[in-house]
Order: sequence, then C-alpha cells, then structure tokens
Amino acid sequence: MPDVQIYGGGIAGLTAALLLEEQKQTYQLYETQSHWGGKLQTTQQDGFALDHGFQVIQSAYPALEIYHKRGYLNDALAFGSGAWLLSNGRKTLLADPLREFPRGLAALGHPGIKLNDVFQVVKLRNSLINQSPQTFFRGNPITTLQYLQSCGFSQSFIESFFKPFFTGIFLEEALNTPHSMFQFVFWALAKGNACLLPGGIQTLPNRIVASLNPNNLHLNASPDYRAEGRTLQKHFATQAHYFAVDTHLGLVKFIGLNATNHGNINLIAIPSAVQSGYAPNGKHLLCVSLKPSSSNGLAQISPSQILTEVEHLLSTKISAQWLNTLAVPQALPSDTPYLYGDEPQPETPTSNGPGNALYATGNIANPSLNAAILHGMSLYSSVNCR
Ligand SMILES: Cc1cc2nc3c(=O)[nH]c(=O)nc-3n(C[C@H](O)[C@H](O)[C@H](O)COP(=O)(O)OP(=O)(O)OC[C@H]3O[C@@H](n4cnc5c(N)ncnc54)[C@H](O)[C@@H]3O)c2cc1C
Repeated sequence: MPDVQIYGGGIAGLTAALLLEEQKQTYQLYETQSHWGGKLQTTQQDGFALDHGFQVIQSAYPALEIYHKRGYLNDALAFGSGAWLLSNGRKTLLADPLREFPRGLAALGHPGIKLNDVFQVVKLRNSLINQSPQTFFRGNPITTLQYLQSCGFSQSFIESFFKPFFTGIFLEEALNTPHSMFQFVFWALAKGNACLLPGGIQTLPNRIVASLNPNNLHLNASPDYRAEGRTLQKHFATQAHYFAVDTHLGLVKFIGLNATNHGNINLIAIPSAVQSGYAPNGKHLLCVSLKPSSSNGLAQISPSQILTEVEHLLSTKISAQWLNTLAVPQALPSDTPYLYGDEPQPETPTSNGPGNALYATGNIANPSLNAAILHGMSLYSSVNCR
C-alpha cells in the first residue's frame, strides 16, 4: 500500500499522524507553512509566550481524552471558573455559584444581575451537565441570543456577561452562533476547566510532533494539488495586544470582561497568573483581546489607546510595556455546518490523489478544537476502513 499522505499540520492532521505512527503505519504529513500547529500558534518573545489570539484548552472536551491519556495535558493549569465583569470602575466577580461558593454569590451586588439570572445559570448548568454533547447538535438550531432569551435571562445579564464572555469564544458579537455550540461550550465549562499549558497553546502540537518520526514530516511543503471537498471561505477575526506588567493587576486567575458595551476591548487576562511560564521571573503577561469588530484589518488601534482602555476598565494607572500585537484574520471558520463531529460524506472521498491522501486542512464539523481532533481521528479511521 502506498504511503498515506496527510495535508495540513494543524491539530487535525497531527492527530491523524499520531494515530498512524502509533499503529506503525506509514504516512507522510505535509504542511504548507513553516511551523506545525495550524491555529495553535505561540510566539516566544523575551521570555514571554504570546499566543496568536487568546485561546484556552477546555479540559472537558471529549476528544481531548486521547491527549489526556498520553499525559500531554498533565501540566495544564486552569483559569478560575468565572470572570470579572468590568464596568464603570466596578469590578464584580461572576463565579460559578456551585464551584466557587460563596464568592460566586458576590455577583448579586452587580446592578445588571438579578437573583433570577443566578438561578437560571444553575438551572441551565444542571440541565446540560448530564447530557451527552452529541445531543446538543441534534434538532433545529436557533441563535445563541434567542436561546439565552428563551431561557429567561435578563437582557442586562446577557449584555454584561454572556455577550462579552461568548464573544471571546465565538469571535462574533451578535451571538448568532447556533445554540448547539453555546450548549456544548457551556457544558464543557461546567464539566471541566479552561486551561493553559506551559509555554503557550503551541505546546500541544509541539508535544505531538515530538512523538512523530521526523522523516515523515514536511514543513514548507508545496503540495501539487489542493485539498478537495469542503472549502471553508469565511472566517471570524481576532487580535491580541500583549504587554509586560509587574503584577496580575488584581485579576488573579480570572479573565476580565468588558461589560460596558463600548470600547475596543473584549476581554483581558493574565495568562502568567495561571501558568507562570507565560512570563519571565518577576513579570506578568497582560493579554488584551479585542472585539471582533475592532480586529479586522481596517482597525488601526494603537497599543497606548488599548492601554488607556484597560486603565479605564480597571480604574487604575498601569505601568506596562507593549510587547506585540498579534492579528489573526482567519481565526475561526464561520461557515461550518455546526455538527458535533464528521458526518459520513460519500460524495467527498478522502482518497483521490497519489497514494492515499487525507485532507486535514481546517475544521469540518464545527469551529472547535474538539471537532478538529475528531476530524483527525476520523481520517485515521478512514485509512483503516480501506
Ligand atoms: C484565537 C483562537 C481562539 C480559539 N479558541 C478556541 C477555543 O477556545 N476553543 C476551541 O475549541 N477552539 C478554539 N479555537 C479553534 C481551534 O484552535 C481550531 O478549531 C483548531 O486548532 C483547528 O485545527 P485544524 O487542524 O482543523 O485546522 P488548522 O489549525 O487551521 O490547521 C490546518 C493546517 O493546514 C495547513 N494547510 C492548508 N492547506 C494545506 C495544503 N493544501 N497542504 C498542506 N497544508 C495545508 C494550514 O497551513 C494549517 O496549518 C480558536 C482558534 C483561534 C485562532
């Protein structure tokens, strides 16, 4: 049998390669760029780890089990279960009331949060947590916004919490993403934690690559035919500004959400408060993630303007040194079918080039790490089914 050829060295292609490697099957992995990991990229700069866009690993994603089992996530450390709501000089911690009791109840002091909202959060959590995630993707989707309204959340709670929090995940501000994705992410947050690995998000692909035979790996490869089948065209963008700071600015391990409905900032976080290796000794890394509407190529927002906005949100003067601004114009594909995992697609065979060609270029089912890993697993299975 000719070598299996995998095109795309993101997490999907790397997952397929790892499974083939472990079964001692021959394969070649081709990546057009000069680095592995696809969307999981980190720039190392002066001892700081700068992820290309604020990104976390949801420990409860079922597909991550293959990496939990191999110990690749053993040193992942978690953000706190909740977020600071930052508005008009006020900083309120909205924490999971069940996991962070009693401080989870502090949110009731916020003018935008009603007792009924906290009750609805607990109700939603309890209704989703014991379901299998595949069930969220069955049935007719409505938008996340419609879903939240139908759950009975107040508009002020949606605006001050759900909007900024899920904008940071969906990378779109209107919450038009199908509610299946919302349920899946909410389920994962309730079941597990949002985690960081030492050295940045690219540590996961780096660990996979370290397990692969280097003779089978080809960077800067110019494949002589393009990936066929579904081509994803439209994307949501994001942009992260990074600053060196001396303290965790009082955010500790929780992300801070811009709950004001104005400005360019979506969220701020101190990754080094979670994983100390994100910054050199004695320093912290401030990550400022912009709203998608402020992240497109046309928006020219200076680091000093961003820092002024951060100072305003935190109501404090900050001594910070700008490190870098990383724009990710093609962060999340916006035209996936929003399924749980790969559906059988007989009309788009995975083998139509020389040898056995598998295309692992971009998400297929939905724009998550979970779906990408599942895609890699299903490519591997398709080899074994031949
Ligand atoms: C800022 C940001 C935040 C995110 N946050 C989250 C999150 O919180 N939770 C979550 O679940 N997911 C999140 N994601 C999404 C997650 O990172 C992606 O779903 C996942 O990494 C996609 O992996 P992939 O292998 O399918 O595709 P990609 O990572 O896009 O990899 C595809 C690779 O194929 C290469 N390629 C393309 N064409 C060819 C060709 N013809 N031949 C060879 N190589 C080719 C590309 O160069 C690329 O390296 C986020 C992504 C970003 C960017």
